Amino acid sequence: MPEKERFYAMPGPNKPPLFIQFILHSKKMTPIDFFYFTDYLDWDKQGDDYAVLEPLIALLAKYGDDLIFAFDEMMAELLYRLDTRKIAQSVYKGENFSADEFLYARCVALINAKPYYNAVVAGRKKLKSDLGFEAILTVPELAWARCHKLHPYDYPHTTKYSYETMSNEEGWKEITIQDVDNYLQTLTKEPLDMQAIACTCGHEEFRIKLDQQTNTVQLICASCGKEININNQSTQPSKLKIKKCSNCKNDVFQVRKATYIMEDGQTKVYIGGLCKKCENIQLLIEYVLKKG
Ligand SMILES: [Zn+2]
Ligand SMILES: [Zn+2]
Repeated sequence: MPEKERFYAMPGPNKPPLFIQFILHSKKMTPIDFFYFTDYLDWDKQGDDYAVLEPLIALLAKYGDDLIFAFDEMMAELLYRLDTRKIAQSVYKGENFSADEFLYARCVALINAKPYYNAVVAGRKKLKSDLGFEAILTVPELAWARCHKLHPYDYPHTTKYSYETMSNEEGWKEITIQDVDNYLQTLTKEPLDMQAIACTCGHEEFRIKLDQQTNTVQLICASCGKEININNQSTQPSKLKIKKCSNCKNDVFQVRKATYIMEDGQTKVYIGGLCKKCENIQLLIEYVLKKG
């Protein structure tokens, strides 16, 4: 006999759906399970959030505390994972926002199935500042209140993770120019030489003008207006265009130049920027500096 008894979920009349049997047995929910539950939302009732949520509340209420608390735990954890500076900046683009606004915006990632949620975590999709679905936060207490015929205010469970904005300390770590170095280093296997760029006036924030055709790079000190030419090898007249942040369209960056010598002796150059408004890190330009 194995020491631990194996659990078999069995279909049958009056039995919970199989995926719920597994959750009730382990008292735990996976992210995949969580999104089975949000499949129960009734989008025919769109516009009335509580009507949309009703089938989900009814389902959780039917099977009691273990299921309700497991749902609550996974909801909190999924929201916690979205609680990062990077995701907030992608939504608000350097503008002010309230903690509640960002929480409500994150809730939207819970109601659009798992691929959407994963895409938001990975940065492939952006949440929107004008959308929210905060009603989902009340699902555990409403299901519990219905199950026990008690008031939702008396809901007794506290989750391990907090979904409140800025609970995820790791996710909100200060972004520094060091993060630009780390990002640039992910672009190549070659060890890069990093070079900080500062104006003679002491400031390190610049507007950047680029000509992608001739690889001409000109920095303009955001403080004193002095121009610094980084690369101007071309004999062609260059058409410099101001570079804007790919996230917020602002145009002031802290800049890092990273280089390595290629096998043929030419120098590969990456110029990375940290947007001073939204803190987005981006590659501004890369080019090969010809020898001689
Ligand atoms: Zn300056
Ligand atoms: Zn930006």
